[in-house]
Amino acid sequence: MEAIKAPRGTYDVLGGESWKWARVVNTARGVADDFGFKEAILPIFEHTELFSRGIGDTTDVVEKEMYTFTDKGGRSITLRPELTASMVRAYLENGLRHGPQPVKLWGWGPMFRYERPQKGRYRQFAQIDFEILGVSSPFADVEIIDSSMEIYRRVGLSNLRVLINSVGCPRCRPDYRESLRKFFETGLDKLCETCRDRFDRNPLRILDCKKPECRELTDSAPPMIDSLCEECKEHFMSVTRGLEKLGADVSLDNKLVRGLDYYTKTAYEILSGDLGAQNAVCGGGRYDNLAEAIGGPGVPGVGFASGIERIIITMEAQGAFMGNEPGTDVFVISAAGAEYEASLLTHELRAKGVSSDMDFMGRSIKSQMKYASQTGAKFVCIIGEDEISSGTATVKNMKDGSQETTRRESVCGKILSWKEAWAQ
Ligand SMILES: [Zn+2]
Ligand SMILES: [Zn+2]
Repeated sequence: MEAIKAPRGTYDVLGGESWKWARVVNTARGVADDFGFKEAILPIFEHTELFSRGIGDTTDVVEKEMYTFTDKGGRSITLRPELTASMVRAYLENGLRHGPQPVKLWGWGPMFRYERPQKGRYRQFAQIDFEILGVSSPFADVEIIDSSMEIYRRVGLSNLRVLINSVGCPRCRPDYRESLRKFFETGLDKLCETCRDRFDRNPLRILDCKKPECRELTDSAPPMIDSLCEECKEHFMSVTRGLEKLGADVSLDNKLVRGLDYYTKTAYEILSGDLGAQNAVCGGGRYDNLAEAIGGPGVPGVGFASGIERIIITMEAQGAFMGNEPGTDVFVISAAGAEYEASLLTHELRAKGVSSDMDFMGRSIKSQMKYASQTGAKFVCIIGEDEISSGTATVKNMKDGSQETTRRESVCGKILSWKEAWAQ
């Protein structure tokens, strides 16, 4: 029988990699704390309607990429393809709008999209997500963008650039949609098939197309920025000025519309290093109509999502410091017959906060020593035959090879003092 493998587009994150994830998530948690965001732990599946109404029926995500199934109760359920719609649902459902505003939430976890798997793109992927709900001030947009930048600064990404655009509001977007239609009408046959379809349903998305034949045309398309109403224009100016005051490298990208329908006003992406636009580490923006789209009252909001895999790939590409892979401090080596003593000593070391491990394989002292050095133990404690009878243990510093034999009850203290010296 053939061994069962993980489904296409998924992968396992194991010890050699998962500590990097921990570093990224812990950094995001630190930034969340410093900016006053509270963690939200939300369901991985939701009613399909949340996404079809929230994200938009004509988006690629809803049309082609969702993992949707009928559960045993006959409900249409979807594995979340992103977190923003769930965050807004949770805000409404838990009555957070009746408390002090704004509400700042963050979360992280797996998202699911049925896409063609390629490097850095999976069907199950993980995102960090920050949202500020209940506020329409442009300074909330500045804060969201700054919080995402702060995560990248702290994990050591360099050369951060903000690409920003405004996708307008329900007042000014219809006019822009019309002027786009007029513009594309004459060159309709030059567009790709998907974009010809978008022309009727959602012409803004044509700007998003990466196909060369479409890009050639979109390069000279009228920019949204010229069609903005006064309010949207002012909002946009305040956001860009606010970011410049913080020293951010900001530039206008007329073609940035993002793949989701819920954005209003600000849409942005962050690039790091010399990667192209397709390799943005983060995307986000304002979504003042999302709450209404999912059946709630009007609640303004702004947020971003950032892929953990993408952050790690970028850190590695830029040679950012990944931190040290955690290992155990002490390996307790024991001769046959000393298992109880070894188990007790390991137990005591751990209780004192010293990470420790011992042998379970019945190996010889020599091969236990080899294993300890292979796994990067800083110290070993040896309970050999002599040490069993004398109630002692031999403690060895793997860095300089120095060793001494000491009473069993003094081992913890000895290790702790060596550990301190090791760290310096
Ligand atoms: Zn507007
Ligand atoms: Zn196209």
